[in-house]
Amino acid sequence: MKNYDVILIGTGQATGTVIGELLGRNMKIATIESDRVGGSCVNWGCTPTKTMVASARAAHMARRGSDFGVDVSRVAIRFDKVMQRVNSMRAPASDGFRAWLEDATDFYSGSARFVDDRTVAVGDARLRGETIIIHTGTRARTPAIPGIEDVVWLDNRGILDLDSLPEHLLVLGGSYIGLEFAQVYRRFGSQVTVFEHNQRIVTREDPDISAIAFEVLSAEGIEFQLGVDAVQLAQSRRYPDGVALTYRRGGQDTTIEGSHILVAVGRVPNTSELNLEAAGVEVDKRGFIPVDDFGRTSVPHIYALGDVNGRGAFTHTSVHDGQVFLDHLWGGSRRISDRTPIHSMFIDPPLARVGMSETEARSSDKRVLMAGMPMSKINRAREKDETAGLVKVLVEDGSNRLLGATVFGVGGDEIVGMLALAIQAGLPYTAIQDTVLPHPTVSELIPWIFADLKPLE
Ligand SMILES: Cc1cc2nc3c(=O)[nH]c(=O)nc-3n(C[C@H](O)[C@H](O)[C@H](O)COP(=O)(O)OP(=O)(O)OC[C@H]3O[C@@H](n4cnc5c(N)ncnc54)[C@H](O)[C@@H]3O)c2cc1C
Repeated sequence: MKNYDVILIGTGQATGTVIGELLGRNMKIATIESDRVGGSCVNWGCTPTKTMVASARAAHMARRGSDFGVDVSRVAIRFDKVMQRVNSMRAPASDGFRAWLEDATDFYSGSARFVDDRTVAVGDARLRGETIIIHTGTRARTPAIPGIEDVVWLDNRGILDLDSLPEHLLVLGGSYIGLEFAQVYRRFGSQVTVFEHNQRIVTREDPDISAIAFEVLSAEGIEFQLGVDAVQLAQSRRYPDGVALTYRRGGQDTTIEGSHILVAVGRVPNTSELNLEAAGVEVDKRGFIPVDDFGRTSVPHIYALGDVNGRGAFTHTSVHDGQVFLDHLWGGSRRISDRTPIHSMFIDPPLARVGMSETEARSSDKRVLMAGMPMSKINRAREKDETAGLVKVLVEDGSNRLLGATVFGVGGDEIVGMLALAIQAGLPYTAIQDTVLPHPTVSELIPWIFADLKPLE
């Protein structure tokens, strides 16, 4: 049995932040990883997908060359080069991270299981920790569609291992992950069909925002089947490794064949392997580990940070959990609930939101003012000839505090940051109005939008 101050199970996105600081305090640390170091974001999430988004945008802009007076005779996708680029981003990041952990901590390769609330087993090794952090993230949910076990289907990992372009990609799930891949592959030249159970895509956003996303993606040639349920998967006759998907709308079944199918219908936490009962750590009905505002589980010296605690589903929320954990360890008062929700969907143009959506504001008990501006009215967007999208801001009447903002359009993923700062700092919207921003930018219009604030009807 080896004794540690801290055992970290899983090298999720808070690992660097947490381990870096603990090492500075001379703590003895064990890190355990069952797969590639760096978790989903580095290996199968943010890094590879955003690298692909960049290649897909290059193809898209090359095809649009003539709109800008640039003749491009032929656009061809070298998928091998695209994937080389992806792998050259993710592999060194993971390898470098692992080398650092091997050097700075006792690194164990394998799947961790609790033996009791202080003891963790990895293979034959038994480790005892004063503090234990569960940082094991999530994986793609496998839906219970009849026939799924008889076909080759892809999740966000599998689709990143393809060595040739899908001829016809079927995508189950019209939310963030499914839509990013859908647009990428469409821009690479695949036929793409997206199937969504709801009547609109990205249902976590406002209906008008969903509608713009639908228009943008449809205009690029992505086909959508909305309000449908996948009811059967079988082998395709047309494509050797393909699938025949039967979907149901209003009692009527239709079958479509695809060369590949991506299943992106939600995430499940990586908790079933951990033998949490042995430690007395409680989980909720979906397997997530409930934590208090400092990341503590039902067992106070065991923390659960990142996606596995169900309080965030992003790299930045995972890192923030790590910061809260450290602060708590040193007696501080930072809390998970202090953070303002923020995210971006990296379709092109990006769809970013901070704080409340209009839908959330309407169902809150606050008196809310709203203003908006289509991207088509913003000069810089017109100069770039990228005018799809909308900016929407929500303000609390009386306090003048910003409650939320959606920036869907060119540069939205970066612009949303200034609105996040205003919310986090509790600034009135007038502080934004008083700010002078460089011309010509998309962000320079944000201060002007507030002039049109009107009560939500
Ligand atoms: C396709 C895709 C795109 C995404 N894009 C973005 C984006 O653009 N921006 C963004 O903010 N977020 C994005 N995300 C989400 C982001 O990847 C996660 O929110 C982020 O990785 C945080 O996860 P985490 O830190 O909780 O754990 P993870 O990063 O999932 O890491 C958990 C680690 O724990 C390991 N592990 C699991 N069980 C055990 C065990 N029993 N023993 C030892 N190790 C174990 C796993 O192998 C893994 O390495 C994306 C996700 C996907 C799938």
